[in-house]
Amino acid sequence: MIDAEKIYQKLKDEKVKKAVEVQSFVRYKMKEFLHHRGFVEIPPVIISPITDPLRHSTYDAHIDYYGHRYSLTKSMIFHKQLSLIPFEKIFIFSPNIRLEPEERRATGRHLAEFTQLDLEVRDATREDIMDLVEDMLIEIIRESKDKFKLDVDVPSKPFPQVTFKEAYEKYESDFEVSLSREMETPFWIIDMPLSHREFYDREYKDGVLRDMDLVYPLGFGEAASGGEREYQYERIVDRIKRGGYDLKSFELYLEFAKKGLPPSAGIGIGIERLTRYLCKLDSVEHATLFPKVIGEPGI
Ligand code: AMP
Ligand code: MG
Repeated sequence: MIDAEKIYQKLKDEKVKKAVEVQSFVRYKMKEFLHHRGFVEIPPVIISPITDPLRHSTYDAHIDYYGHRYSLTKSMIFHKQLSLIPFEKIFIFSPNIRLEPEERRATGRHLAEFTQLDLEVRDATREDIMDLVEDMLIEIIRESKDKFKLDVDVPSKPFPQVTFKEAYEKYESDFEVSLSREMETPFWIIDMPLSHREFYDREYKDGVLRDMDLVYPLGFGEAASGGEREYQYERIVDRIKRGGYDLKSFELYLEFAKKGLPPSAGIGIGIERLTRYLCKLDSVEHATLFPKVIGEPGI
C-alpha cells in the first residue's frame, strides 16, 4: 500500500525542502562549470535497446514497443561513447532506473530511481577526469557551503588516492566502508580488478582496469564511478566474452563498435548522494521529494 499520509508529511519536512534547494543549486553550478569547460549537454535517454548491463544484481525493467525490447536506462555509458562521435566533451543529467535488491535499502545510498551527472571526454585519460571532478567538487562544495551555511569541509587538491589492491589488503571486502569512515576528505580508489567492473572499463594490466571510484569521507560511501573505456572492437568482444556474457546480447552495440568508437574517459556522479553528503542526511531518500525507496512503494 502506498502511504499517502507519509508522502504528504514529507512535503512539509524542512530538512527535505532545504536538501532539494541545495540539490537545485548543485545542478545549476554543475551546468555552469561544465559549460565553461566547453562541454555540451545531451538530453537524457529514458528507454533504449542498449543500456548498461551492470555488474551487480538489478532487475532489468523493460517494455515492448512494436516488437522491440526497450530497457529503462540503468546508465547511459553506451550513449556517452556514441555522443563523442559528434562532440568532444559531453554531460547528461541522466535519470536511471535500477531495481536494486532489498538488502541495499539499509545502505542509505540506494534509490530505485536516481539521477547521475554523467560525463565523458574524447581522448581523455582517467587522470584528466579526476582533475576535472576535483575542481568541480571543490567549487560546488565551497559555494554551497557559503550559500546554505552547510556543515561540510571544502576539500583541497589533489584528493588522496589508494589502489584497490592496497585497500583490499588492509580491510578485505569491506574496504570501501572502512576507508570512508576513516577518511576526512573525499578520496579515490583506483585500479579496480576486472571482476568488479563491467566490460567497458579499459584494462591496462592483466586484469587491472584504468578506472576509479570517488568515495566521500565520514562513512558516506561511494560518490562516483568512472574510468577510461574500451573502444576497439576486438578488445570489446574479448571483454564481453570474459565477462561471461553472450555476444548476442550486445549485437547492436558491437555493430557501432565495429564502425568505430572514439577513445574516451568519463565518470558518473550521483546527484542525490552528493546532496546527502552536503546536507549530512542519514539517507538519500531525504535528498529528493519523491524518492523510490528500495522495497517500498512510492509515487
Ligand atoms: P555506477 O556507475 O553504478 O557506480 O553509478 C554511478 C553513480 O551513480 C554512483 O557512484 C552513485 O553515486 C550513483 N548511484 C548508483 N546507483 C545508485 C542508486 N541505486 N541510488 C542512488 N545513487 C546511485
Ligand atoms: Mg559504482
